[in-house]
Amino acid sequence: MRAVEAPPTTPFVRPGRHAAPEGGAAKVTPTAPAAAKDALAPDDLAARRVRETWEAVEPQIDELADWFAALLFSLAPSTRALFPAQVSGPARRLLRSLVAPMSAVDRPADLKAMIAPLVREHRALGLDAEQYEPLGVALIGAMRRYGAGVDGAWDDATEHAWVRAFSLAVGPLEQAVRAADATPAVAEGTVVGHRRLSWDLAVVHVRPDVPVPHRAGQYLTVEVPQRPRMWRPLSPATAPRPDGLLEFHVRAVEGGWVSRAIVAHAATGDRWRLGPAAGRLGLDPRSEREVLVVAGGTGGAPVLALCEDMSRWDRPRPCTVFLGGRVPDDLTVLDRLRALAAEHPWLAVAAVCEDDPLDESTLPGTLPEAVLRGGDWSSHDVLLSGSPAMIRATAAALLVDGVPLDRITYDPFADR
Ligand SMILES: Cc1cc2nc3c(=O)[nH]c(=O)nc-3n(C[C@H](O)[C@H](O)[C@H](O)COP(=O)(O)OP(=O)(O)OC[C@H]3O[C@@H](n4cnc5c(N)ncnc54)[C@H](O)[C@@H]3O)c2cc1C
Repeated sequence: MRAVEAPPTTPFVRPGRHAAPEGGAAKVTPTAPAAAKDALAPDDLAARRVRETWEAVEPQIDELADWFAALLFSLAPSTRALFPAQVSGPARRLLRSLVAPMSAVDRPADLKAMIAPLVREHRALGLDAEQYEPLGVALIGAMRRYGAGVDGAWDDATEHAWVRAFSLAVGPLEQAVRAADATPAVAEGTVVGHRRLSWDLAVVHVRPDVPVPHRAGQYLTVEVPQRPRMWRPLSPATAPRPDGLLEFHVRAVEGGWVSRAIVAHAATGDRWRLGPAAGRLGLDPRSEREVLVVAGGTGGAPVLALCEDMSRWDRPRPCTVFLGGRVPDDLTVLDRLRALAAEHPWLAVAAVCEDDPLDESTLPGTLPEAVLRGGDWSSHDVLLSGSPAMIRATAAALLVDGVPLDRITYDPFADR
C-alpha cells in the first residue's frame, strides 16, 4: 500500500494521514503545466483539464461513483453512516457537487456563487470540515482509475490539474463548512396531515419546528423516518407562510423507495428532517415579459406556490399555465390554480390529459403537443416543472419551436 504523495500546492492532502487502498494510488510527480503548449494561467489550465477529463469519464459515472465511495469509506469509515445502503445515487451527487466548483476555478465569480448552496447541501448530507481531505483523496484515486487525460491517459499533468482545482475549489468550501458548524444544518418538522388522494398520490402537511427559509418555487430536500438517509427533493405547494406550514404533493413512482413509503406509510406525528431550500424555478418581479409555465403531475406543486406568491405582487406578470397529467385525478392543484385564475386576470390555466381525450374540461394530447398548439411562446420566459421525461420532451419541442434556450428554466432532473 502506497501513501498518496501530492504536489506542494495541495493543502487537502497531508501525506501519510490517509493511505489509498491497494492499486488506488501512485506516486505523483508534478510536472510543470504544459504552459508553452497551452499558454494558459495555471488556474485556467486546471479548470480546462478538469472539464475535459470529466466529460470523458462521465459515461462511466456509475462505476466511478462506486469506486469513489469505496475509497472514501476505507479512508474515512465515519462517512459510511452518511449514505444509505445503496450508495451509487448519493455518491454520484456528491462527486458532481465536488467537480462543479472544480470546473469553475477559472471563473472566480461563478465559483463564489456556488459555495453557499454547496455548503448547505454538504451540511445537510452530514459532512464535516474534516472529511474534505479524504474526499479529495478518494476523488483523485477514483479519477486515477477511470479518468482519461486530455491526451488519452491519466498523466501527471492531469493529476496536477485536478489536485490544484480541488485545493482552489474545496478550500473555501471547507472553510465555510467549518464556520457554519455552530448552527444546525437541517430543520426538523412534524407531519400534521397525510391525505391519500389515490393509490399513488398523497398530500402531506409538515409543521417545521422553526420556519424553513425558502422562496416560492424552490424545493427542499427531505428525509423521512421510513427511509433514513435517503434524501429526496420535494417542492412545497404553497408560497412561504408566516406559520411555516409546508404542503407537499407526493406521487409514488414505480419501484420508488422513498415516494412509495411516503404515500403508503407516512403518518401524523412522523418527524421529517428538512434540508436547505434550493432550485432555479422562480420569477423576477422586475421583468415585464410574459410567462409560460408547463407542469406535469406533482410538478404543479411549485407552480401553485409561484402563482400564489405572484398574486401578492403589485404588478404580477401575465402568466399562462399548462398543467398536465394522465387522468384528471393527477391534477392535484388544478382547482386551486383555477380559483386563482378566476380572481386574477393575469393568470390563465389550461389542463391537459393524455389518457382522457373525452374529458371536455381538459385539452387532449401530451403536454408538449397542447403547449405548441396553444400559441407562439418565442418571446416568453418559460418555466418547466415535472418528471425528467416531461421536461426533456417539452424543452425539446419549445426549442424547435423557436424559444431561446436561455429563456427556459427548470431544475436539473438527473439524479433526483
Ligand atoms: C427539484 C425536484 C423537485 C421534486 N419535487 C417533487 C414533488 O414535489 N413531489 C414528488 O412526488 N416528487 C418530487 N420530485 C421527485 C422526488 O424527489 C423523487 O425523485 C421521487 O419521489 C422518486 O423517489 P423514490 O425514492 O421513490 O425513487 P427511487 O427509488 O429514487 O427511484 C426508483 C425508480 O423511479 C425512477 N424515478 C425517480 N424519480 C422519478 C421521477 N421524478 N419521475 C419518474 N420516475 C422517477 C428512477 O429512475 C428509478 O427507476 C422532485 C424532484 C426534483 C429533482
